[in-house]
Amino acid sequence: MMNTELTVDPRAFDRKTVGYFRYGVVNGQVLMTNDVGEHLFLDPADFHRFLAGQIDRGEPLYDQLRRRYFFKHELDLDGLADKLRRKKAFLLNGPHLHAIVTTLRCNHSCRYCHASRADMDRVDTDMSLETARKVVDFAFTSPTPVLGFEFQGGEPTANFEVIRFVCDYALEKNRYENKELLLSLVSNLTLMTDEKMNYLLDKGVMVCTSLDGPADLHDKNRGWMEKHSSHAAVTAWMDKFNAEWVRRGFDPDLFHVDALMTTTRHSLSRGPEIVDEYVNRGIRSIHLRPLNPFGFAVNTWKQIGYSMDEFLAFYKSTLDYIIELNRQGTFVQERLASIFLTKMLTPDDPNYSDCRSPCGSGSAQLAYNFDGSVYTDDEGRMAAHMGNDFFKLGHVDTSSMDEVLKHPTVKALAVASIQDALPACHSCVHKATCGVQPLHNYMFDGDIFGQRPLSRKCQEFYGVQQYLYQLLSTDTDGSLQRIFRRWTIQRSRPGTTPYVPASEVTS
Ligand code: SF4
Repeated sequence: MMNTELTVDPRAFDRKTVGYFRYGVVNGQVLMTNDVGEHLFLDPADFHRFLAGQIDRGEPLYDQLRRRYFFKHELDLDGLADKLRRKKAFLLNGPHLHAIVTTLRCNHSCRYCHASRADMDRVDTDMSLETARKVVDFAFTSPTPVLGFEFQGGEPTANFEVIRFVCDYALEKNRYENKELLLSLVSNLTLMTDEKMNYLLDKGVMVCTSLDGPADLHDKNRGWMEKHSSHAAVTAWMDKFNAEWVRRGFDPDLFHVDALMTTTRHSLSRGPEIVDEYVNRGIRSIHLRPLNPFGFAVNTWKQIGYSMDEFLAFYKSTLDYIIELNRQGTFVQERLASIFLTKMLTPDDPNYSDCRSPCGSGSAQLAYNFDGSVYTDDEGRMAAHMGNDFFKLGHVDTSSMDEVLKHPTVKALAVASIQDALPACHSCVHKATCGVQPLHNYMFDGDIFGQRPLSRKCQEFYGVQQYLYQLLSTDTDGSLQRIFRRWTIQRSRPGTTPYVPASEVTS
């Protein structure tokens, strides 16, 4: 992204004092950022004084610049290295998120489905117990101390036998492996039964479902083959799960069914209603996710798609509504904002795989198809379904974790997502808090490197970060920063079974 609104002559720099930074313009102020995620707003006159080495030691601004590592001659190199090490701590762990496709069968036919679903009679797309055992054994060879299994599909509960087997086997195996084990299920909940629910609760499996908003909107997006209301079934089961967590004595703020929403054209004018639907169900986190024009959505794009400008207008007005709810005493956060705010306002990085540099495909997460094939992630599996095996890393029958991690595709994806070396990212004011996902580039453009200013993900991430900084730049009494800081606090879940000291996992 070009900083066209402010002209800087590099020959005017005081090279002895000016450290390495990036800059942009927000609300008429100069936003300076650096590689460890520090930021500072300067008015243009002060910015030019900084460049010319004219900020005096006695000025408060001098200390602000020094403490945020913007002065070269005052650089605390050890402090800087510690900060960078903490920001990039995710690099040292290996794959922690293991998505298991228990089946491709699904009883829904959502208008934007990405998952390469199959009809309910296609039992040939079910994972076998033998393959499931090999998947668990394979995943446990990851060096990560935190190991998460996430059941996906199709509709994963259509093959509940494999879910049950993986949970029991992983919990038993972990008695000796002693990892922090997290179990989660992504389900439309329409095949749920009391018996399945009680099993999941007993084993501490956290459930995430899809909820696109009020009933008419949700049901328009998510067609159920049997023509019932998907919304009625989903919300009934959400309420039942949540009541059962409470009955068992768990904190409802931490133990509840989470939900994801996908924005279609029909959502664009209904932001507050969607948020209210979440808040009224006790969900305190909502991720305003744009539609990706791949999978089935390619065919329905004309009916449900929109431009990124339209999405960002929806995002900003809905975020404003969420902030207003917080000001009135209702805690609810927007998930993408909280990811960026954690990067902007705290020393940590939330390790969100789609917004990291380098990305987490194949190095932080892996996906296992029903037949035991190993992919970089679920989008990689989908690319294979569309005819490109580039993202296939091996098979649980024949590959080792070491071979998978050293696979040329994993290396290529890392190279394609190191933003210091990517045109546009390298000079972008948001580089330190952003991330790229080469698989999205591939899906959009057929090229893992993509073209940043033109890519939808870049436009989304740039627009969201720019808006967050815009809001922060006008926060004169600090009240918004207090709300935003609360969004960055991730409370850990205490263990739900003797084996599962579950905590928040980001994917
Ligand atoms: S992907 Fe992020 S860092 Fe790169 S140019 Fe776009 S907004 Fe900037």
